[in-house]
Amino acid sequence: MNSEFGLLYEGKAKKIFAHRDSEKVIIEFKDDATAFNALKKSKFEGKGELNCLISSKIFEFLAKNQIPTHYLELKNNNSMITQKIKIIPLEVVLRNIAYGSLCKQTTIKPGSVLEAPLIDFYLKNDKLNDPLLTKDRINLLKIIDNQDLEFIINMTLKINKVLKPFFYNIKLELVDFKLEFGYNSKGQILLGDEISPDNCRLWDLNQNNGTIVSLDKDRFRNDLGGFIEAYTEIKNRINNFINSN
Ligand code: UDP
Repeated sequence: MNSEFGLLYEGKAKKIFAHRDSEKVIIEFKDDATAFNALKKSKFEGKGELNCLISSKIFEFLAKNQIPTHYLELKNNNSMITQKIKIIPLEVVLRNIAYGSLCKQTTIKPGSVLEAPLIDFYLKNDKLNDPLLTKDRINLLKIIDNQDLEFIINMTLKINKVLKPFFYNIKLELVDFKLEFGYNSKGQILLGDEISPDNCRLWDLNQNNGTIVSLDKDRFRNDLGGFIEAYTEIKNRINNFINSN
């Protein structure tokens, strides 16, 4: 599709193409789904478009709330134009409710509401299986200096403050999410990557019997079925909310 531009990088879920403006790139969202560091793989027609459209709406909402992101505009339904950034090799996970790896690695019970948001850092390195980091290890590896790390922590907390009520309004519980940040050519730290059901856990609050209904990638990870239906539901709720406000 973007063949007139050079492919710069292909990841598990996205392709990055050069833009004629060297300070921008084009991100194309693929239909591939992977989990468990790509040990589990599949393809869902329409997934790329859903994640692109969901991410674009969320980035626009964050920008309105003074969160600097790489997002500039949609190019088409499955690709967006963003500022070119140098990604910091950290996966920043914020958790409001305990689930997933936190419950596998500790004694905390799935579904426990955390007293305060927990931020976990992982090294973005597929070969090493994205290991959990400590602040001291981040210093040791010289991934980022303390001042920039504090900036990222504060931005992550602010994003949570903005997104929790946003999702709550559309009857979704924001359980946890993963962010990536990068530096633009001016050295500013911007939120990068995507914000979609691929990297957020979203539980349906329309369920009143206390059961957990995941409308996110856990449907694929845990073979729950209804994957595209769940992502479509997220897109529709976001669009309905934005159009009525
Ligand atoms: N996550 C992600 N990419 C990863 C690992 C996790 O986007 O490589 C997201 C995941 O979708 C969830 C949050 O980060 O919203 C926390 O994931 P967790 O550490 O519990 O790992 P998981 O249970 O997904 O292995």
